[in-house]
Amino acid sequence: MKFEQRIPRETSARLFEEAQEYFPGGVNSPVRAFRSVSGPPLFIREGHGSHMTDVDGNRFLDFCCSWGPLIHGHDNAHIRERVIETVRRGTSFGTPTEMGNRLGKLILENHRYVERIRFVSSGTEAVMSALRLARGVTGKTRIIKFEGCYHGHVDQLLVKAGSGLVTFGTSSSAGVPESVARDTLVLPLGNRELLEQTLTEQAGQVACIIVEPVPANNGLLIQDKSWLEDLRAVAHKYGVLLIFDEVISGFRVGFEGAAGYYDVQPDIITFGKVIGGGFPVGAYGASKEIMDHIAPVGPVYQAGTLSANPVAMAAGLAALEQCLEPDFYTRLEARTHEMATALEDYARERGYPLHVPHIGSIFWLAFGTERIERADQIDPANMEYFKVIHHELLQTGVYLGPSGYEVGFVSSAHTPEDLEEAVTKICAAMDVAFAR
Ligand code: PLP
Repeated sequence: MKFEQRIPRETSARLFEEAQEYFPGGVNSPVRAFRSVSGPPLFIREGHGSHMTDVDGNRFLDFCCSWGPLIHGHDNAHIRERVIETVRRGTSFGTPTEMGNRLGKLILENHRYVERIRFVSSGTEAVMSALRLARGVTGKTRIIKFEGCYHGHVDQLLVKAGSGLVTFGTSSSAGVPESVARDTLVLPLGNRELLEQTLTEQAGQVACIIVEPVPANNGLLIQDKSWLEDLRAVAHKYGVLLIFDEVISGFRVGFEGAAGYYDVQPDIITFGKVIGGGFPVGAYGASKEIMDHIAPVGPVYQAGTLSANPVAMAAGLAALEQCLEPDFYTRLEARTHEMATALEDYARERGYPLHVPHIGSIFWLAFGTERIERADQIDPANMEYFKVIHHELLQTGVYLGPSGYEVGFVSSAHTPEDLEEAVTKICAAMDVAFAR
């Protein structure tokens, strides 16, 4: 398919070519290479509020929001001031800091399921540490995960289902030994019977069940509350720990994330993205009893040179303080709902096969008209539509993550006018995609 280029992208194209000389595929994280869509990736020069500008001077209304962290948009004044004030006093000391205490306190005082927290530097690190903790607490080795959930590039979780229903995983990346993958069992979402059957067969070998309570890495696979309650009940029944990976949903669908949204208590929660206000922060938290297994109190080792870096803590603190303002989440959810509904109405009126699942301020352009709850319900052929929509939107100044499997994020910096503009432009892009 040939795409007509109506905006200048020469500088991005040149920098991308140069980047090939430095980085594998020209990037430092694979999806940034734009391989699922058309043209070179945009090299972004700056971002303010709901917009960012690339090196060719094109301005975009941004719904990627750095893949989720920027719940207050770009260059948020409160975060900026806090960071500048903090960085003036030095950037890293390798000691505890008051800033770390302040962020820890704010989270614990406002999250009913977190009694102790440990800060790390990425979502992947949070998940990796949570798995070790679960294994350390239970003394068991195996892990259950679900198809369609992504948990970062942790070896034990770069695993896909093998053949058969109850499956031992096979690694989904070179470099992950099959011996590691074999300890991960991969099940479909939403099947309690199969989960119980697996736990019975595994008789005491499983340490934990890990799930994205709001699966948002393979489309947006919104789950029923009853399924999350099933997970809670089954984990209790079989004596395994339940981990909610809330790297995306944490502080995004509500201050207490999906655990609070659905009112289901996991044993361990992992965080990332929003918690760092745009800086590299991850965390994992649980009851005091569970967290006391972590060194230096307990025998589970976990450490980090830049853990709880004060500048990153300052950014996180400034971000989360704003999330606690009255009606913050209600307002954001209402705006997102309005935009998603307008898009769906437009598609329905014209008979376009598109709907827009959304929760909190997360949305997804889903092709087809049926609700999608599992990864296997996504038809990869439909990604051709996304390619056209993505391309059209770049031409008209709207930026979505460069893959049809990625979700979009609305920030508090997106004004109602921004969202109206987005609806108009996304509808026009749909006309082009579905008219082909
Ligand atoms: N877990 C979930 C649910 C995620 O969405 C991600 C990243 O997108 C991760 C873990 C890994 O986080 P990071 O990219 O910060 O390592």
